Amino acid sequence: MLRIAEIFTSVQGEGSWIGVPSTFVRLSGCNLRCRWCDTPYASWKPEGPNRSVEDLLSELVASPVDHVVITGGEPMIFDDLEPLAQGLRDAGKTITIETAGTVFRTLACDLMSISPKLANSTPEGDWRDRHESTRHQPAVLRQLISRYEYQLKFVVDPEVGADVLEIEALLAEAGSVDPHRVLLMPEGISSEDLWRRAKLLVPVCIERNWRLTSRMHVDLFGNRRGT
Ligand code: SF4
Repeated sequence: MLRIAEIFTSVQGEGSWIGVPSTFVRLSGCNLRCRWCDTPYASWKPEGPNRSVEDLLSELVASPVDHVVITGGEPMIFDDLEPLAQGLRDAGKTITIETAGTVFRTLACDLMSISPKLANSTPEGDWRDRHESTRHQPAVLRQLISRYEYQLKFVVDPEVGADVLEIEALLAEAGSVDPHRVLLMPEGISSEDLWRRAKLLVPVCIERNWRLTSRMHVDLFGNRRGT
């Protein structure tokens, strides 16, 4: 069984598959608690019904959309992710898995979209120590990068210069990372903030051959669920 916060169809709004029509399956539950989490209904206050893999596959396979994005929450913490991904692969779907890169699994996946969480994600309060000791898993990151087609997507506040230094240290630990697979995405939930911060990231990307990505779904639909 998998707890499902939401299933919706849209276009991918972030990263190297931006614009690709996709069915998004958001699993509810996460091993982190980011301070700025934009899907608290899948982490801080997980919600949604439990559904069997068979039930989910019958809905997803019937969709005319070829690509499925399995997101969260943190999809990689759930054992039933493996039969779900395999069932989608068997049905001819392509699959992105969006993960924070703290757990490794071997499964069917066409793009492992890894978004390691930086120190800017750490909350105050009860979850602080657990989040801080879990978010940084360099050995898992190395496994994911060597096993999968991947992108490394970092949520960055360019007004806090420490983020870039932290990313550089993390990449050095991760080993052989293609800089063209490193994407910076500005932190923010309004178009105004996102584009202002994106402009500040341009020279950072140029200097390092990293890529810049925005959050197109925020421009198109605002910061709303189901988009
Ligand atoms: S890893 Fe993702 S879902 Fe989990 S708390 Fe952080 S932003 Fe939210």
